[in-house]
Amino acid sequence: MKVFVIIPAAGLGTRMAPHSAAPRVEKPRKKTPSKQFKELDGVPILVHTLRKFAATPAVYEIIVALRRDEISGFRAQLEKQYPEIMGKRLQMVEGGEHRQDSVASALAHTAADPEDIVLVHDAVRPFVTPDIIASVVEAAHQHGAAIAGLPAVDTVKQVERTADGALIKATIPRASIVMAQTPQGFRYSVLKKAFDDAIADGFLGTDEASLIERAGLPVVVVMGSPRNIKITTPADLELAEFYLKSAGS
Ligand code: C5P
Repeated sequence: MKVFVIIPAAGLGTRMAPHSAAPRVEKPRKKTPSKQFKELDGVPILVHTLRKFAATPAVYEIIVALRRDEISGFRAQLEKQYPEIMGKRLQMVEGGEHRQDSVASALAHTAADPEDIVLVHDAVRPFVTPDIIASVVEAAHQHGAAIAGLPAVDTVKQVERTADGALIKATIPRASIVMAQTPQGFRYSVLKKAFDDAIADGFLGTDEASLIERAGLPVVVVMGSPRNIKITTPADLELAEFYLKSAGS
């Protein structure tokens, strides 16, 4: 059984823009790095993430989905500055408009056997640990599909968006809520079929597990970590800097 890792890293990271920066229509906007290329301790977030999987002996190959115009520059940067990552089997492929399209593109380049495991992990979750990776691989191997997740600590409200703001429609019992993280891991045969079905039906999910769920197949949740954050906003970046300093991660 081989383990493949798909890293979708083709997002624009629009939520990373500071709130004060109103879009100016009169001038062409200066190109800012997408969130996966923002630096933590002088190293791009994506590189921090790749290091975690490159250092995992069980991982056979990593497939990164990038925006087309970022592939050659990133490859050159890895070759020059991060040889520890180039030492692993690594493909860089063009991503798509949505996260699911980026993963589909990487999956099309994944030469896995039906029983092999495919992990999908957000480029912007650099604090994933060897334990979480191992737990997801093990559970995916056993059950066909597994994700890292965390029990909800906040009370969760279902709302309706109106012109006056959000109106609460219901309170969802917290005990039944898990916050989904990545990695999400699957037997290749399970993931491939779920993607083929989703594409045929025009279904677009925000994670891979949702594609398996709609087929009525079980997806197991293993314990993630509160530190396994998805760096999405400037506040997340500050938290990530703190984690990096405090844990020497
Ligand atoms: O946008 P979201 O926060 O869901 O992004 C999660 C991950 O998916 C990020 O690593 C981002 O780069 C990636 N992504 C992608 N292709 C897109 C949109 C997001 O690879 N079109």
